[in-house]
Amino acid sequence: MPHVSSILKILMQYNEVRKDYLLDRWVVIAKDRSRRPTDLSKPRPQMAKAANCPMCVGNESMTPPAVMLFQNLHGSIKKVQDPLTGKRSKDWLVRVIPNLYPAFSPPKYPKVTEQIFKGINFGYAIGDHEVVVESPEHNEEPAEAELSQIELIIKAYIERFKELSNKPYVKYVSVFRNFGLEAGASLSHAHSQIIATPMIPPVVQQEQQAAEAYLEKRGRCVFCDIIEQERRGERLILENDAFVVFAPYASINPMEFWVVPKAHAANIANITAEEVKSFAQTLKKSLKALKTLVNNPPYNYGIHQTINTEGYHWHLEVYPKLAIWAGFEKSTGIYINTIPPEVAAKELKKVIKA
Ligand SMILES: [Zn+2]
Ligand SMILES: [Zn+2]
Ligand SMILES: [Zn+2]
Repeated sequence: MPHVSSILKILMQYNEVRKDYLLDRWVVIAKDRSRRPTDLSKPRPQMAKAANCPMCVGNESMTPPAVMLFQNLHGSIKKVQDPLTGKRSKDWLVRVIPNLYPAFSPPKYPKVTEQIFKGINFGYAIGDHEVVVESPEHNEEPAEAELSQIELIIKAYIERFKELSNKPYVKYVSVFRNFGLEAGASLSHAHSQIIATPMIPPVVQQEQQAAEAYLEKRGRCVFCDIIEQERRGERLILENDAFVVFAPYASINPMEFWVVPKAHAANIANITAEEVKSFAQTLKKSLKALKTLVNNPPYNYGIHQTINTEGYHWHLEVYPKLAIWAGFEKSTGIYINTIPPEVAAKELKKVIKA
């Protein structure tokens, strides 16, 4: 029998496999310490600004009428919409429009789930697909935007969530953002998207089911417990009165982080004005740190939330696009992450504190 300390030494040399808090998903955390976050910093392909950007002020007629606009009316923010026919407003701060090429489109007559799905593996892609034009300024990305502007974007997410989640055919409202060519953004104007679907996506459903099982067994919310655990540990990135940002234990993306509210709520529908403010600050700070640390990388983010359930706790997940998933990941569903979340958190924290 080798000595305990030499066994430990041997074990330390292995990469780790880690399972997600809630999902049945494994990741290999590669411990090759030569991979530092700054190694992922590289020149990024610049996205050309279209000569005639359909999201820029003055080009409103290139897109469908806005389903919602925020306007500054004598210093107070007003929520309006474009008329269905005729002139579209050029006076807006945030503009929400139907996507011209929707993945899910609204029903022509009121539809309920029973009319959408035929059998267990077929249905119609009925729902809503909207684009949130985040600013009249083409390049006003949330990492650099005015806080008041980010607050308006969050308020637009909230308003659209409330409206769409009330529709009889909607089971889930996905709010997400693609930034950069390699993360799937086809237009460079600052924007997010919202897709309302007639089913709950599997990732959220699995999280929800695991959270319900945890609640049943331990009488507590698993997300509240994850926050408690992560805010004391080495994966914490930042914490304030209302939010905790951390690199998740089994991150599948290098530099991945989650922004989780301390107040337990299933979705963003009823978050307070204070939380909106804090959310804007928290999001800006963490996205700015990512931008600074790895040279403005492409990323996606998405809000996970459920429409009506007590057993869920909304959060925003940020997935920097810094790795290429290839044969192993695609054929097995096991990921390899070359930046341990502990290292990601340490470096992001350093940039935020600097
Ligand atoms: Zn533009
Ligand atoms: Zn909770
Ligand atoms: Zn989630």
